[in-house]
Parts: sequence; structure tokens; C-alpha cells
Amino acid sequence: MIDNWADLCPICEYPFERCQCRFGGSAHPDRSDRARVVFDHLYLLSAGQLDHVMHVQSFWQTSYADEKRNKILLYLIRQAKELCENERNDL
Ligand SMILES: [Zn+2]
Repeated sequence: MIDNWADLCPICEYPFERCQCRFGGSAHPDRSDRARVVFDHLYLLSAGQLDHVMHVQSFWQTSYADEKRNKILLYLIRQAKELCENERNDL
């Protein structure tokens, strides 16, 4: 096992501050299979890795070929926006 695993991006295995996963394109290796498995098993990550993966995901504009999944995504986005607005109103 890698000694500092808990402090590395679980997708690219670089330290969080040098993670390559925000950036796509042909200059970077395709890590989509690895990302898919990481996203399906978040319970295996350290707290730091979990925070990092959420940060990286926020840069990705993931959409789905399946319309049903896109509707679920839009629902989650609406709920998250409402939650933010409610929290702001509570201040
Ligand atoms: Zn990474």
C-alpha cells in the first residue's frame, strides 16, 4: 500500500494540490474508468479524499445519455440550490 494514500487523489494518485483530474483533453490520460469506480465506492475513501473528489466533481459537467438520469440530476441541482438559498436566508 502507498504510505500517504489518504492524502492522494484516489483517481490520479497525485497529491491533492497537484491533482490532474480537473483538466480533461488529449494531453491527459483517460481516467474515466477509474473515476467511475471511485465514485461508486466513496465509502472506501479517507475524509480528505472524499472532500477532494467532491471538489473535482464540481468542475466536471457530467450529463447522461439516459433522460431519466438527467432528470434525477436536475432534481438534485434544484434541491442543492434551494438548500443554499434557505441557508442564506437563515443568516
Ligand atoms: Zn486527481
